[in-house]
Amino acid sequence: VTVTELTLELPALVDQHCHGVLAGGPAGRAAFEALLTESDAPPAPGTSFFDTQLGFAVRRWCAPVLGVPPHCPPEEYLARRARLGTAESTRLLLRAAGIGTYLMDTGLPGDAPASGAAVHTLVRLETLAERVAATAPRADAYLAALGAAIERAARTAVGFKSVAAYRHGLDLDPAPPAPAELWTATDRWLTSGDRGRLTEPVLLRHLLWSAARTGLPLQLHTGFGDPDGRLHRADPLLLTDFIRAVRPTGCRLVLLHGYPYHRNAGYLAAVYPHVYADLGLAVGHTGARAEAVLGELLELTPFGKLLFSTDAYGLPELYLVGAVLFRRALARVLGRFTADGSWSRDDAERVAALVAAGNARRLYGLDGP
Ligand SMILES: [Zn+2]
Repeated sequence: VTVTELTLELPALVDQHCHGVLAGGPAGRAAFEALLTESDAPPAPGTSFFDTQLGFAVRRWCAPVLGVPPHCPPEEYLARRARLGTAESTRLLLRAAGIGTYLMDTGLPGDAPASGAAVHTLVRLETLAERVAATAPRADAYLAALGAAIERAARTAVGFKSVAAYRHGLDLDPAPPAPAELWTATDRWLTSGDRGRLTEPVLLRHLLWSAARTGLPLQLHTGFGDPDGRLHRADPLLLTDFIRAVRPTGCRLVLLHGYPYHRNAGYLAAVYPHVYADLGLAVGHTGARAEAVLGELLELTPFGKLLFSTDAYGLPELYLVGAVLFRRALARVLGRFTADGSWSRDDAERVAALVAAGNARRLYGLDGP
């Protein structure tokens, strides 16, 4: 097979959406495998999560970084990893990933993946609301404390993140809730005995609007993820009326993950000036097919509005695999565009640098206002 790969001089990547690394490392093979899947269940009897595109990608790209042959069996890889220890494996894998900046969603436990990299914070709205509810269990006090907490968060974070897709679905009423509706829903939630997990759609809408009014970018989970959600209710097209309604606030919306609706996200980014599309998560999980997914995103998404991320969580392997597969997919897709004369080499290099880092630096103001 002839593959035209473009040799690209990329800037250090900006991972615009990721989570922490588990510092203690996974305890054994089952715990490691559980982090290779979005499923919350063990693999089917007689199967392994290593037998997936992501599992294959880990064996291909992480094994040589830890000093074992590419494609070596999982047992050999995990034995080598255990011999090196979690701290040393993590250091080697993160160094090889070539990520210069992490924007970290603090909604899940874990430590910043950095060693020498810049780390910025994305505040997860639902987690913030649940924390406030634990200390302000009455509607008036809760709403005031929540407003103050969002304002405080906006002073230090680079953006907000919402998992409304998991908690309810993106088929929310697009308008900001009226005060009476908001108060009644708040009171209902706080007195329901289930303050631990926010699923009340009126309150989820209130969070989205509160974040939008801060002027910081708002990341929204869309597309595939863990089985908490119903995938068909995570299609970003369900956000169309919200996207229109929120535009006057000046808030920029980042549609995360997207797969298998990434083309829909690309369409929304194409027609609404304040919408951006992300290609994280899908890249790692589609492995040898990442090139196809990136190619589809580059069909409609304006080149100044596509953002790289890994959505890595827990395992340092996921940062490396996300970064390597992204660079490789980019080199191949742009290699084809230039080889057949559709794109100039200069344009390909400029777009590659935008997606790898430049778009995120501009969107989140990482180089100052
Ligand atoms: Zn995430």
